[in-house]
Amino acid sequence: MSRVAYVNGTYVPHRAAAVHVEDRGYQFADGVYEVIAVANGAPIDEALHLKRLERSLAELRIARPFPDRVLRHLMREVLRRNRVRNGILYLQVTRGAAPRDHAFPERPIRPSVVMTARPARRPGRATVEGGIDVITIPDIRWRRCDIKSVSLLPNVLGKQQAKEAGAYEAWMVADDGTVTEGTSTNAWIVTKDGTLVTRPADHVILNGVTRIAILDLARRNGLAVEERSFTVAEALGAAEAFLTSTTSFVLPVVRIDGKPVGGGRPGRFANRLLATYRDHAGEAGP
Ligand code: PMP
Repeated sequence: MSRVAYVNGTYVPHRAAAVHVEDRGYQFADGVYEVIAVANGAPIDEALHLKRLERSLAELRIARPFPDRVLRHLMREVLRRNRVRNGILYLQVTRGAAPRDHAFPERPIRPSVVMTARPARRPGRATVEGGIDVITIPDIRWRRCDIKSVSLLPNVLGKQQAKEAGAYEAWMVADDGTVTEGTSTNAWIVTKDGTLVTRPADHVILNGVTRIAILDLARRNGLAVEERSFTVAEALGAAEAFLTSTTSFVLPVVRIDGKPVGGGRPGRFANRLLATYRDHAGEAGP
């Protein structure tokens, strides 16, 4: 089946989809994006993604290309044209194309909007049941990681390092020794007394939509939750560790830098939260 991309107002064959060479996203990473999971034809937590997109755009002073109503319609149209019922929708907005100059163009330009969709599977049973490895690396990013910008070079290098080490993810560690987040996931631990711990949504991490949903579901299920930072040493001594994201949902972390966490096996909190999140997403397990 041929794929179709939405590019600045038109639907084009995916292999021919392109933006201008002077697009500021291409030259300066001057743009933002969202990755939205789709289950049974419906974008999961769409409102939270649109809210975050609006916030990211406002932080960079990029004009909103469309009202949410139009964006929601376009997203569905991209899913329909690509016949995606379970998968991933990618949405990117950059400041637009203009003669190269670091400062914003003086005259307003039209933001570039690109959307693609593809079928995708969540991590399979073996990954969920076996748990995953993470490595730790220094967090070398800028101080506005709360903006979901397409400037992802440290994340790209970190993920590659994890891959080469045979790990699923790299947890980035700030100068003060605390874990900030994964290269494309948020980091969590469960203390020995059963409290879920994840870093507060400050400027040092991206406030994951899955993070927000899990915090909400956990609280509604009566679990104890603390938003505070934790060190690698605390994670190694914790009852459990796990990560969350749009594409990974909830994945148990069983080793950090090769050392076992929670006895080297997935814990019951991660399993229970994954089941609860799947329910919330309207998706059956693998
Ligand atoms: N942190 C970073 C750096 C990310 O890129 C992502 C994925 N977008 C996340 C956390 C998880 O966010 P979400 O749950 O919205 O996918």
